[in-house]
Amino acid sequence: MKKNNNLIKIPNINSSDAKFEKLIYDVEDSLLKKHSYFKKDFGHLCICSGGTTSSCAKNGFTTLDLRKNYNKINLDRESNLVTIGGGVIMGNLINHLEKHKRSFPIGLSKLPGAGYILTGGVSPLSRGYGLAIDNIESVKGFLGNGTFISLKKNQLSQEEQLIWEGIKGAAVFFSIITEIGLKTIPSNPIKIIEGFVNPTELSEIIKLSEEFPENISLQWIYAKKVYVYVFAELRDNFEDKRTKECILLLERYSSLEKNLYKNFNEINFFPKELKLFEMNSNYHSEVISLLGEDLNTDLQIFIRCLNEIMENKPNNSCYIASQQLGCKTKKLNYGSSFFIHRKSTWKPWIYASWKKNDLQEKEVVMDWMYKSWSKLKRFYPNIHLAQLHNHLSSHREELTLAFGKRIDELKTLKNICDPQSILPPL
Ligand SMILES: Cc1cc2nc3c(=O)[nH]c(=O)nc-3n(C[C@H](O)[C@H](O)[C@H](O)COP(=O)(O)OP(=O)(O)OC[C@H]3O[C@@H](n4cnc5c(N)ncnc54)[C@H](O)[C@@H]3O)c2cc1C
Repeated sequence: MKKNNNLIKIPNINSSDAKFEKLIYDVEDSLLKKHSYFKKDFGHLCICSGGTTSSCAKNGFTTLDLRKNYNKINLDRESNLVTIGGGVIMGNLINHLEKHKRSFPIGLSKLPGAGYILTGGVSPLSRGYGLAIDNIESVKGFLGNGTFISLKKNQLSQEEQLIWEGIKGAAVFFSIITEIGLKTIPSNPIKIIEGFVNPTELSEIIKLSEEFPENISLQWIYAKKVYVYVFAELRDNFEDKRTKECILLLERYSSLEKNLYKNFNEINFFPKELKLFEMNSNYHSEVISLLGEDLNTDLQIFIRCLNEIMENKPNNSCYIASQQLGCKTKKLNYGSSFFIHRKSTWKPWIYASWKKNDLQEKEVVMDWMYKSWSKLKRFYPNIHLAQLHNHLSSHREELTLAFGKRIDELKTLKNICDPQSILPPL
């Protein structure tokens, strides 16, 4: 099919290269209600919000692109609640909020769209403010059966309760969300301590980080070399005693640099020096995200395992990285959700990438991804389903490891809300 050059580019290279059946760009509520867009023979519909995953457009499938018509952002200055369309990208959200000295716990990149929020949303600020789903106050949208829904956190009927919980972590399987109401947070200055370290130093820094207070988090990335990123939110513009102590402990690492940023908006988590292949148009990729608890006494075995994985990596574009959650994300007082692994304190991900069109390399790379996952399971047994892999053989296992005991409830929701399986399959 011929591509329309007026469409906005899809950032994920697999998806932007896809020979989709149809890309529907002028999406409106009336279309979502009627399902007039859908022909059963084409399999499920793909939905595009930020367009950062390999599942928002596929060969032979139809995509509904929410980016053009569901891109509004509106902050209520009295309640500090923000309402965003289902096609808003996180960079635009925090840009808008910044004008009013507010912010939101977005992830490590400004590119992801509403998919970031609906799949959980792990931010460097999550230890202090919860996951993105913990900050949802209301949603509007359409179930897969065409029914319009408008749900508010404290005004749910008994029948709506399960749908509400499902939306927080598993919405993508049974609904198309056109509007999300979110709590916002104050925009505070951020101190970043970052730089290259060796694997032994990484293990020491992980050890320190497992004692960090809730306003500090560690993220690291092991590509060609190891890069660490310690993120400290200075609440009320103030570096408190505990924060100072933690930052002081990092001073012994001479390769680390300290920088103060006015706000989250100014930060770029993946500096160019890392030479990541993420947006390289000659490469395709898959990402799998894991979840697990503090490493504690397993730290040394973990570093050995990590080194072994990296020694076997098939090319320079593959990497392993991790971000820290915990503290507020462990609390259950946000109400129940389909992000069930609340004890998790680490979310590592495996980035597997190959020269597009090189099917032989793809096979080797995917084998590396699965073998690495298998090795890491001992430390991180669960899955954060941030990327849908219904096109991969691991989909079923990922579903089980993401939703655990709630998988049957999710199947029930899917049967009721999306009986024809118009949306991505379970
Ligand atoms: C560079 C980068 C950094 C990242 N950092 C983080 C991070 O720090 N923390 C974290 O938790 N995740 C992170 N992610 C993962 C990312 O948040 C998820 O992959 C998310 O699903 C992407 O959402 P999207 O809207 O950009 O993607 P899309 O590809 O547009 O959508 C992803 C899936 O979500 C569904 N979907 C999207 N919008 C809607 C909607 N409105 N209604 C119904 N279904 C919808 C679609 O069916 C699609 O299959 C990162 C991803 C990238 C590429």
